[in-house]
Amino acid sequence: IIGPRASGGCRRVRGPELRELLDSKRDVLFDCDGVIWNGEAAVAGAPEAVRLLKQRGKRVFFVTNNCTRPRGNYAHKFSRLGFSDVSEEDIFSSAYCSAAYLRDVARLSGKVFAIGCQGVLQELRDAGVDVVAEDSAEGPDTSIYDCPLDPDVRAVLVGYDEKFNFMKLAKACCYLRDSECLFLATDPDPWHPLRGGRVTPGSGSLTAALETASSRKATVIGKPSRFMFECIASQFDLDPAQSLMVGDRLETDILFGANCGLCTVLTLTGVSTMEQAQEYKDSEAPEKKDFVPDYVVESIADFSEALEDE
Ligand SMILES: [Mg+2]
Repeated sequence: IIGPRASGGCRRVRGPELRELLDSKRDVLFDCDGVIWNGEAAVAGAPEAVRLLKQRGKRVFFVTNNCTRPRGNYAHKFSRLGFSDVSEEDIFSSAYCSAAYLRDVARLSGKVFAIGCQGVLQELRDAGVDVVAEDSAEGPDTSIYDCPLDPDVRAVLVGYDEKFNFMKLAKACCYLRDSECLFLATDPDPWHPLRGGRVTPGSGSLTAALETASSRKATVIGKPSRFMFECIASQFDLDPAQSLMVGDRLETDILFGANCGLCTVLTLTGVSTMEQAQEYKDSEAPEKKDFVPDYVVESIADFSEALEDE
């Protein structure tokens, strides 16, 4: 079990071997969508897995690129879905971390023009970051010439926004003409699965539109960027060697783990498949190796099975 990548990664693990792996770590970081829950349903066995890990003295953190809810709202969702012991302080969303970045790292003086849903706006306000208010006078026939630009804007933040439209893109683009104006994105996720085989475009697709329009590149806060790990580490003193990252998306969760020097576990209850992981493993390109998880489990219910099986 020591030196997981020595075997090339992608190793199916369960039972005593999984228990040994969990015992060798102090902290477990879980992605949420596709790992802990899918929509409004907890992944079977997930509440039990979290409870058992905590019982064994592990610290458990939730690291999600989903910026649609503020932290408090996530805490409610956890309790609604049967997780009895998750508190707001253990939840790190890309919205929360973006607000923390603007406040603590960029030390923004001035306002942020935010493209994003309630989760993003609420976290910015909670962090005391000044957000440009929506223009209520704006109608369907408003042109870019009719929209006053706020001279105090020093940053543009793009997150998931179901009300994304041409005017928001146009205004953001105008603000970014000033090279001093920061350009941030909550996360790079291209799309998210919905019920009935539908998908919804993610923050990454909206960011791509603005990157094209502004000829600039956004600084990404969410996974796979290291900042989310640094954000948790600054509050809880994490050691990469003692931490395990569990996720369902190779291009964000597993790459995040690799970028931060964490041991990684892919769970198959979400977006990525064993075949995709194997493809990365078989690839000749060295940069693809960071997408290869150290371990693979069917579901985090395997954690409970491994921990209960004493
Ligand atoms: Mg996920």
